[in-house]
Amino acid sequence: MKLHTIGYWGAYPNVNEATSCYLVEDNQTKILLDCGSGALSKLQNVIKLEELDAVFISHTHTDHMADIYSLEYAMLILHQLGKRKEPLDVYVYTDNISDLSFEFPHVMQVHPIHLAESVNIGSLSVTFAETIHEIPCCAMKISDPHGNVLVYSADTGYSKRLIDFADKADTLLIECSFYAEQQGLTKGHLASYEVADIASKAAVKNIILTHFPHYGNINQLKEEVKSKTDQSVYLAKEGLTITI
Ligand SMILES: [Zn+2]
Ligand SMILES: [Zn+2]
Repeated sequence: MKLHTIGYWGAYPNVNEATSCYLVEDNQTKILLDCGSGALSKLQNVIKLEELDAVFISHTHTDHMADIYSLEYAMLILHQLGKRKEPLDVYVYTDNISDLSFEFPHVMQVHPIHLAESVNIGSLSVTFAETIHEIPCCAMKISDPHGNVLVYSADTGYSKRLIDFADKADTLLIECSFYAEQQGLTKGHLASYEVADIASKAAVKNIILTHFPHYGNINQLKEEVKSKTDQSVYLAKEGLTITI
């Protein structure tokens, strides 16, 4: 399968960019992990919107779901044009499912994520683990039929559960919201050394950093993680595609 990083900023998008959004695809299936601000525009550089099979929303902070309502209008128009017949399945982790209510439910079908239940979309299987965040939020593990595994941390503080969940994953796509010197100042997000600790203990092959702060030099985040681990470390960026 392939991972495309569509949006990777925390909070709000940088100029001409997008917040959290990742496309995972193989030759049968295309799923979106989060759908943040600016994502819908960027996503169309990679696929046609009618090709989407499902969307998974890790939590209801707007940097992870702002564009889901623009996607609803896109689906409505694609239905009207006859380019799409089925509703788009939208899976969301929340303690209040009415947080995600659509005006046109015949084009967007909402499903609550239950941590104990996996979801199969085409050839891909998705499982979940709760993270440490201000509101309910879940990490996701995507597995393909060949046994390749991607884990996406979503938003989280330091979590032993995430280490276990990501154990020996091929790729860990993990939030890195803070520089090392900021560690401990804010709960519910990770600083660079914590990312390195989680990734080394989980023994993942590749680390992709994402959910960046809007200050400092984000290359420093990569250098800080690399200083604590010998795993391969990448920064999410526009156009980044990784085969997993
Ligand atoms: Zn976020
Ligand atoms: Zn959040």
